[in-house]
Amino acid sequence: MKVIESREGEIYDIELSEDLLEKNRKLAEENKALLNRHQVLGIDVMGSIGSGKTSLILQLSRLLKSKYRIACIAGDLTTTIDAERIKKEGVRVIQTNTGKECHLDANLVKKAFGELSLKDIDLLFIENVGNLICPAEFPLGAHRRIVVVSTTEGPYMILKHPYIFQDADVAVINKIDMAEPMRVNPDKLSKDALHIKPELKIVKTDCLKGKGIDEVIRVLGL
Ligand code: MG
Ligand code: ZN
Repeated sequence: MKVIESREGEIYDIELSEDLLEKNRKLAEENKALLNRHQVLGIDVMGSIGSGKTSLILQLSRLLKSKYRIACIAGDLTTTIDAERIKKEGVRVIQTNTGKECHLDANLVKKAFGELSLKDIDLLFIENVGNLICPAEFPLGAHRRIVVVSTTEGPYMILKHPYIFQDADVAVINKIDMAEPMRVNPDKLSKDALHIKPELKIVKTDCLKGKGIDEVIRVLGL
């Protein structure tokens, strides 16, 4: 995204992308205002493919669906696998296939709002595209950002992706049951995350078994 060489064409690219990011920020503010107007709490869930974003949303929905009216926007390049899984929990799901885009942007989310009846929702999960890089630069208008990282991704995922952790409110360290066989120390992962952002809330989970989900609910204040 950021081009440092000064060849003519590439300078133009920089201006274009700064403009694009600015437009996205404005749209994200509009999205948040719309959510506020309808008293919907928006939660952006970020993380790599396979980190456990969908499992986390499923488990949170299971525990919260008697208390809140829940919907989910599922961002995915091409498949509806996640959307189908979440639908089974009785959650209303809007699928946004992003095609070649490696992140959701505020405009895609705005379009998805059009297909949801926001007045009938209290809690909206937005499952971002599986990627730890560009979602950091594209706020969507959600009130909270969760980033999920799993122990199976190895010991350096947090250190190598500081921006996404800087931008998050909650870091979920998932698949703690796999930490030992993977020889990954979850406490070291926590420490890395807190080093990047001291006020980050960190929760260790096993989302498949539902371990740690109550703590995620607690730190989200739900
Ligand atoms: Mg998923
Ligand atoms: Zn991207």
